[in-house]
Amino acid sequence: MLNRRGKLRVCRDCKEPITTENTNPSNIRKNNNLCRKCQAKREKDFRRTHPDYDTVWHRKARKGSTYQDRCEARRNKRRIIVMKHYSNGTNKCAGCGIEDIVVLTIDHINGGGTQHRKKIHQDMYNWLIKNNFPEGYQVLCWNCQYRKKIKNREMIKGWRPSA
Ligand SMILES: [Zn+2]
Ligand SMILES: [Zn+2]
Repeated sequence: MLNRRGKLRVCRDCKEPITTENTNPSNIRKNNNLCRKCQAKREKDFRRTHPDYDTVWHRKARKGSTYQDRCEARRNKRRIIVMKHYSNGTNKCAGCGIEDIVVLTIDHINGGGTQHRKKIHQDMYNWLIKNNFPEGYQVLCWNCQYRKKIKNREMIKGWRPSA
């Protein structure tokens, strides 16, 4: 296959000529000179060198690959970046130290999270990244956030922890 300048397209890694059979249609469209084999190898290497990139959510997104899944994968990627920042790279809850990223949330240290979320009208993680990780946030798991809410009496009227 020839490129736009009329030169033969060869794989960047193994130098094999690119044909419609040995590469993915998206690579032909994007002018990405990689054969299927070398692309798989690169992806494998990438996953090896970036172990936390390959999370449960990404795996799910690749398999199902519905629009919702892809959105979720993107959101979770941002989530991981934000969690890492606000936990100083430990991905741990500031209250109890739990490391399970699935139950971790971003907490407004001085409260007022609900109002803030209403005001920014967008994904919290997106907002934090766009605003260069502002101060005043911490990583808390759902349990610790709940505990904090009860302590601060932010809960809905009439709710009792023992009920
Ligand atoms: Zn190749
Ligand atoms: Zn906790």
